[in-house]
Amino acid sequence: MNTSQKSLNAGRALPKQGIEWLHNPIFNKGTAFTDAERDKLGLRGLLPPHVQSMEDQVQRVMNNFRNKTSDLERYIQIVGLQDRNETLFYRVVMDNLEEMMPIIYTPTVGKACQEFGHIFRRSRGLYVSKHDRGNIRKVLENWPTRDVKVIVVTDGERILGLGDLGASGMGIPIGKLSLYTACAGIHPTQCLPITIDMGTNNETFLKDPLYIGLREKRISGDAFDAVMEEFVAAVKVVFPGVLLQFEDFGNGNAFRMLETYRDQLCTFNDDIQGTGSVALAGVLSALRLTGGKMCDHRVLMSGAGEAGMGIADNICAVLMEEGLPLAEARKRIWFVDSKGLIVKSREGLVEHKRHYAHDHAPCADLLSAIKAIKPTMLVGVSGQPRTFTKEIVKFVASYNNRPVIFALSNPTSKAECTAEEAYTWTDGRGIFASGSPFAPVTYQGKTHVPGQGNNAYIFPGVGLGVVATGATRVTDAMFVTAAKALAGLLREEELAEGRIYPSLKRIHEVSLKIAVAVAEEAYKSQLATVARPADLTEFIRGHMFKPEYPSYA
Ligand code: NAD
Repeated sequence: MNTSQKSLNAGRALPKQGIEWLHNPIFNKGTAFTDAERDKLGLRGLLPPHVQSMEDQVQRVMNNFRNKTSDLERYIQIVGLQDRNETLFYRVVMDNLEEMMPIIYTPTVGKACQEFGHIFRRSRGLYVSKHDRGNIRKVLENWPTRDVKVIVVTDGERILGLGDLGASGMGIPIGKLSLYTACAGIHPTQCLPITIDMGTNNETFLKDPLYIGLREKRISGDAFDAVMEEFVAAVKVVFPGVLLQFEDFGNGNAFRMLETYRDQLCTFNDDIQGTGSVALAGVLSALRLTGGKMCDHRVLMSGAGEAGMGIADNICAVLMEEGLPLAEARKRIWFVDSKGLIVKSREGLVEHKRHYAHDHAPCADLLSAIKAIKPTMLVGVSGQPRTFTKEIVKFVASYNNRPVIFALSNPTSKAECTAEEAYTWTDGRGIFASGSPFAPVTYQGKTHVPGQGNNAYIFPGVGLGVVATGATRVTDAMFVTAAKALAGLLREEELAEGRIYPSLKRIHEVSLKIAVAVAEEAYKSQLATVARPADLTEFIRGHMFKPEYPSYA
């Protein structure tokens, strides 16, 4: 048996009756069960007579997928496959990642979350509710295996840029974990999506009879913290050593939770640290095109939330490596939020914004802030669509030879500007990246391939490195290391096309390289609990799940 077969069955009893093999997505091979397996497992007659190859099954899925008339229909189809036959699902997704990524993740997953109660078919993962307080450990113990390596948990308060989607946010942990497997080969049975239903303030959902969550307002403050505290304590007992990823919590809670738990267990927040890392990789690649060092640049971030702060902190790490003290590094980065330029004289600034509040006269809006600061890099993470107007982009292009414009807000409808706008308004000189994918743009005979600053470049590889080495903590240094590894993988010919991220076709190689870099960091900082193998790359490659059918004959 290969590694994937071995762990596929780990901790799970084999089905007893033929029909159970078909109804269990971990074991099901559908029409690909061989004649010998059909005889041995009691499947004869339960399947059409012709034995199909996995390739034929993939072909059928893809034909149906491409014939659907909407992306939401494609999402429903492909998640349905995941619920029936996980091996085939991952074969399909891994072999067609560029086509699948926008369906199983942003932007379509956002629509799927908005419609979650209406398209709900089969439950996946665990739902913990605020009413489970006192019993959360028991809820976690209902999960059928203890062999869980990665948990992604959300409370649905800030799904992508779509706001409070309550328990319907479950689409996000499910989608993220699918990417852990599809990009980095974390075994699907070792992934656990969890939603904590703290209530919702989404009035539409509260009135919708098909909404899947509690019809109650959100709890906050001490009541929220008490649920999280019990949840994290229960995770530590039921799944010791697990990597716990916080996802799409509102920023009123996310920063505090990260600070509270990062030294207690192996945890990180992808919206803060993963985003910081993938954006830093884009910035490092952009430097290859603009020339100069990071300290030659002025960065202006539109949006001072989780993403913005994660990006700024990672850029600071590079500035400090270039020799600047932290206070000087922070001065290279400016923020605009809903109230305008963040400056020292503004009253009532929360802690994370205060770090980047500099001495300057207030500017009421983005345009006036840009005119005052004259950034060389403009990064949009405000969730406010179309805020990089023609006037703004043209102005930034007027004094930069290669203006860097990152419109990272998701989903596509929230992007600060489109790829086409970024290239045309800068006369083709712009270096562009977005959060959701945009198609290549041909401008004056040259085709530009926009970068997608997709967190999926980073978190699966980080997760693989952490899981393979049994690292006890996830550190900021791991994310900076991951960003450098990602930027280092960009080929000259990709850069020439305007790409600042490697093609997604190379995601398995990328994730493996990032995992190795993160593992090196784990050994360096003495956080690894697994003895260092002779060949780290081959050792980590051995952990990667391959979507192949085992033989049960
Ligand atoms: P958040 O809610 O934590 O922060 C949003 C910030 O935008 C807040 O500081 C808010 O004050 C500010 N804001 C609101 N209106 C504004 C305006 N008119 N002008 C300037 N700022 C304004 O959210 P977040 O987690 O930081 O995510 C923000 C956006 O970034 C989302 O759309 C999200 O999808 C996107 N994002 C992209 C990536 C990626 O591309 N890889 C990763 C993470 C998040």
